[in-house]
Amino acid sequence: MILGILNETNDKRVSLLPEQAEVLTKQQITVWTEVAAGTQAFADDDSYATKNALLKARTEILQQADLILTIHPLSSEESMLLKSGAILVGVFQPLFHVALMKQLASKMITVFSLDMIPRTTRAQSMDVLSSQANIAGYRAVLLAATLSPRYFPMFMTAAGSIPPAKVLIIGAGVAGLQAIATARRLGAVVEVSDTRPAVKEEVMSLGAKFIEVEGAADASKAGGYAVEQSEEYKQRQQERLAASVAKSDIIITTAQIPGKKAPLLINETMLNSMRPGSVVIDLAAATGGNVFATQNNTTIMHNGITIMGNSNLAADMPWDASKLYGKNVLNFLQLIINKEGNVTLNFEDDIVKGCCITHGGNIVNERVLNSE
Ligand code: NAD
Repeated sequence: MILGILNETNDKRVSLLPEQAEVLTKQQITVWTEVAAGTQAFADDDSYATKNALLKARTEILQQADLILTIHPLSSEESMLLKSGAILVGVFQPLFHVALMKQLASKMITVFSLDMIPRTTRAQSMDVLSSQANIAGYRAVLLAATLSPRYFPMFMTAAGSIPPAKVLIIGAGVAGLQAIATARRLGAVVEVSDTRPAVKEEVMSLGAKFIEVEGAADASKAGGYAVEQSEEYKQRQQERLAASVAKSDIIITTAQIPGKKAPLLINETMLNSMRPGSVVIDLAAATGGNVFATQNNTTIMHNGITIMGNSNLAADMPWDASKLYGKNVLNFLQLIINKEGNVTLNFEDDIVKGCCITHGGNIVNERVLNSE
């Protein structure tokens, strides 16, 4: 079997590092790496070659590999180059890319989208959303600290006292919890909002204050994720958040609802109540953003407030992000490749079934089918 590792066009990460590729070459799998695939993650072509991976041009990999690893979705044109029956593994957000998934199905490509892996204990070692969100939460706080004209910790100096920065974090999932921990380590005072009451204890154990809003929609059947909220709840949440927003020096927003547009949580009036010099980092930017003025992949100034829209901050730490992503991928591959290095798909396995989007010419994933 030939397994190909593609160079990400707009991302410094790589889907498999050389030492991870070696695990596969030792299983008698032929590994092809696109030229310069790992360069920006500090894994040069030679380091792949020393692990017995062969350097190839992109087109050759697309046309001939049996299993292709990537992070982002391929373009429609490149998808047409894949050979019939090939397997594609990456993070494709299929709920937002149904047309592309249909196209891949029509070419008899089997697509595994790792962002659809069930959030179960057994799947934790393959959970790319968690490994990358953890980095994004950490990075967001460090970026905010750098962009802010203020200190994070409290200081009492001969030249005067500096109060600690006030940080508001909206959404206490994986990214949010890491952002809380990082902001606390830097000495900030942290407040947190989330629609899931279950996170209150975790938030408090990290030394942050949880902003209570009663009447959230029941998310117990949503696999740990949030669900959309009623208009009354949204109104109440905005009222509770307004005071915290106005006094915050830093806001980091991470609130997402799988397969849906991100909820707008900071409206224009709330944003305008912030002091000039404040910093907002919106990690939900790619799905519309949680903040009124957010522009995806752009940093803007709005009334003296810096607003960064970036849902791909893990890519800013390509070394560790690739290491963790690659390890997730490797763990997943062990589920679909046997000891002899051949693909064997067991659709009885909830992980294989959960993240398989297309197979045998059809869309096979229930969540994707139901989203149409
Ligand atoms: P996410 O990226 O989907 O959303 C981020 C956070 O935003 C969530 O905590 C969500 O509740 C919150 N949110 C959504 N709408 C909101 C709103 N209107 N106002 C405020 N907050 C809002 O979340 P995630 O990081 O992917 O985590 C989702 C869930 O999956 C969490 O419960 C997490 O603990 C769980 N999880 C479980 C496992 C596992 O068991 N293997 C692994 C990872 C995550």
